[in-house]
Amino acid sequence: MDVVVVGAINVDFVVEAERLPGPGETVVGGDVSRHGGGKGANAAVAAARVGARVKLVGAVGADPTGVEALAELQAEGVDTAQVAVLPGTPTGVALISVAADGENQITVGAGANGALTALHVEAALTDALSGALPTGTCVLVSTEIPLPAVAAALRGARHAGVTCVLNPAPVVPGLAGLLEHEPLITPNRSEALALAGELEIPVDDVRRLSALLAHRTGSPVAITLGADGVAVFVEHEPEVVLAPRATARDTTGAGDTFNGVFAARLAAGDPLSVAARYGVVAASLSVEEVGARSGMPSAAAVEAALR
Ligand code: ADP
Repeated sequence: MDVVVVGAINVDFVVEAERLPGPGETVVGGDVSRHGGGKGANAAVAAARVGARVKLVGAVGADPTGVEALAELQAEGVDTAQVAVLPGTPTGVALISVAADGENQITVGAGANGALTALHVEAALTDALSGALPTGTCVLVSTEIPLPAVAAALRGARHAGVTCVLNPAPVVPGLAGLLEHEPLITPNRSEALALAGELEIPVDDVRRLSALLAHRTGSPVAITLGADGVAVFVEHEPEVVLAPRATARDTTGAGDTFNGVFAARLAAGDPLSVAARYGVVAASLSVEEVGARSGMPSAAAVEAALR
């Protein structure tokens, strides 16, 4: 199973605190840690942990943080040959506060991710997909990079005839315009509601919303619902795949884990609801550790939890 991820690469600085600060407030926290992050890089690691062969398309700065980010990805078995190293721009940074109940607050500085061009993505994707078979390959794209780069990835995947998953996270203006490329979308609840708003779909029931969004995109839809699992719409009836109960310590990267593992299983040929179940179980295991990648499970751990 081959997964090509197009998305952001960050370094995450995490502070744990009793609660999240309000606007203008300072909260004195506890443990401080540094982790590899970015929605693209995280999903790439999640897919690699469950056994996919993963190529990542993205950008880092020509700085020590970028060198470290790439080394961490390579140690996870992710192919970083298509990651641009851009001089004169810093590697992307995420400042993350995590509260005792696992809730988080994140501010991202795009850095090199913000300089990723459609041209680079086009060339990198063509290279990454050369020789790829339409079956057994999945392209996964998220929107933490400029929209022209996202659109280039969606166009490239469609042109190659491979399965394409768009994780529309974070919400950015113009998101709805990307749906013309007919990707399979995987928003979380708030991203799905934002898309519905942009498309003027007056619905707040997620099951119905999954059906209406699928109608608009012409592709299946999977809306992740945090501790409630995921609502999937393939052809007829919306279906909710429940998440196993988990003790949430840090939900950062839960969506990235779902997406990476979901894409890996789609590339392996699983039907959508089977891939979604696998993704949900993996994501629920991942929230039990602090750090987006620390709790990402192996295929064996997911399979044990599925039994
Ligand atoms: P995002 O992280 O993008 O906001 P969600 O919050 O919907 O996305 O979470 C994605 C997946 O992570 C869920 O479908 C679920 O499998 C898992 N997950 C998230 N939060 C929890 C939780 N508190 N308990 C169990 N599983 C969770």
